[in-house]
Amino acid sequence: MQRRTYDAIVIGAGHNGLCLAAYLQRAGLSTLVVERRHEEGGGVNTEEPVLAGFRHNLHAQYMEFFDVMPMIADFGLEDLGLRTVMPEAQAGIVFPDDRPPIVLHRPDLLERTHASIARYSTSDADRYVELKRRAASLEAMVAANLYSLPVAVPLDDQGVALESVFGDLGVTASFVYKTPRAVIDELFETPELRALLYRATVEWGAPLEEAGLGAMFVTFVMWTMGNWKLAVGGTHTLAKAMTQACYREGVDLLENTAVESILVEDGRAVGVRARGTEYRAERLVASNADLRQTLLDLVGPDHLSSRWASRAEAFRYGPSHVLGTTAWCLRDAPAYRAATVDPDIDRCFYTVVGFDGADDVLRYIRDAYGGRLPETAAAGTWVNSLWDRSQAPPDHHAATGWFFLPKASELTADEWAEVRATLNDRLLTSWQAVAPNMTRDNVLADRLYTPDQMERKNLMREGDFSNGEFSFDQIGVNRPFPEAANYRTEIEGLYLCGPSAYPGGGVHAACGYNAFKAIAEDLALASPVVAVRGY
Ligand SMILES: Cc1cc2nc3c(=O)[nH]c(=O)nc-3n(C[C@H](O)[C@H](O)[C@H](O)COP(=O)(O)OP(=O)(O)OC[C@H]3O[C@@H](n4cnc5c(N)ncnc54)[C@H](O)[C@@H]3O)c2cc1C
Repeated sequence: MQRRTYDAIVIGAGHNGLCLAAYLQRAGLSTLVVERRHEEGGGVNTEEPVLAGFRHNLHAQYMEFFDVMPMIADFGLEDLGLRTVMPEAQAGIVFPDDRPPIVLHRPDLLERTHASIARYSTSDADRYVELKRRAASLEAMVAANLYSLPVAVPLDDQGVALESVFGDLGVTASFVYKTPRAVIDELFETPELRALLYRATVEWGAPLEEAGLGAMFVTFVMWTMGNWKLAVGGTHTLAKAMTQACYREGVDLLENTAVESILVEDGRAVGVRARGTEYRAERLVASNADLRQTLLDLVGPDHLSSRWASRAEAFRYGPSHVLGTTAWCLRDAPAYRAATVDPDIDRCFYTVVGFDGADDVLRYIRDAYGGRLPETAAAGTWVNSLWDRSQAPPDHHAATGWFFLPKASELTADEWAEVRATLNDRLLTSWQAVAPNMTRDNVLADRLYTPDQMERKNLMREGDFSNGEFSFDQIGVNRPFPEAANYRTEIEGLYLCGPSAYPGGGVHAACGYNAFKAIAEDLALASPVVAVRGY
């Protein structure tokens, strides 16, 4: 039986909310998680949205943080069903003419990456491989940055550190002031490699033409490149394992229940109202919902200072991190013409199709960010059933992919319906140009899931999976805004634990983990965290 009073209440059972709840309960606080959907996980989700038996990860697909995510070891998620595969060929791009594909491999197979890039340029191959090797060696630093409260490091100091690690590879301290695109262009001469890196950079969170994010390409994007794992059974197995961990710790979970308001008394958060019932929280309330919903809708401007209300009003969502997910039920996996040059392209974990080259990718991204539908029908695609037979019926394959699309509010409902009715057909034409077996006959059924639908389903405002634009004034110690950068709010006992807070979107559970650290400090909890790994 659900109680009405807990020490802690977490709003939302996204993976960050689940992470925070598990640590809170383990630290001795009775904890309730309230989730509006019928299942836990939020963006950590797998469905059969097109045909029964064909699984698609409609949101998160690439699991790049599993090696550093503390919750996996701390709560034994592998014993609770979490299993992964790490394909050898990780990221590739194919072109509609006879140009060779580029295939980037796992960090332990960099000689194959070298051979692939060297078909275009030996100096690019040398530089990419050495950059990747050094970025991989920064893993402990990346993990410590992710799983700690954000710290302000002046750009000049970041530049000096960057040059000290990568200086002999052409990286200078001034890169920190540049855009990721300028950095990619300075480092690599091959337009085909640039095309793949542009696409990957935007997908993995760094807006390509935002000044001041140049270091993010060299460290973070290069660290994540080719580090991707597949959750066997679908990404949802992570949410399932985290949910089981919560149950095992003693957390209560209440599904199908949207929180309508956060109760504030004398400037302090004391509980939530959901479906007309009050649930009291004696120590704290934490929100996995986005910033504006949390502060403006659930708390309400009456309980906020004018500064905080205006900060929340001004917080921007998209155009970064806005994707459309395209899902395909296939007889055969795509067989690329370019496999005659490099057979690895047919078993590549992430394959970019439909672009002619770097300029085409740039135009496409500018269109999406500018609120226009891209002229080019191109996508980053994957076929998980190549490695995990549970994801499609025997002798069939489930392919999925992402378009960059304008944020949800840029188009009307009718316009989004039109996109759903037409864009997949255009992609199929592009796909067939590079993989001749991608004919209509090879497709049993397909479906496109657009940003307006993501907004409705998970309350991901604008379809922005990071719950807030990545721009210089909304990242690091400025996320979501400087006064709220450490997960605390001006309402005593109210914390943020979703990606509107640092470090933002992605399946790393860092927002939940760091929120726990802030809470543990405030409540003088015996922290089960820091002792073991130092972060
Ligand atoms: C198309 C797409 C592709 C992505 N690909 C990747 C990828 O490959 N790799 C990667 O690492 N990340 C990826 N992401 C990002 C990742 O999925 C998200 O950043 C992450 O899932 C956010 O997790 P969260 O737990 O903070 O929030 P969410 O997953 O958004 O969960 C928030 C939860 O709160 C609930 N909620 C909201 N309001 C209320 C309320 N009032 N009452 C009760 N419950 C409420 C929601 O229903 C939801 O369950 C992708 C996202 C999208 C959309």
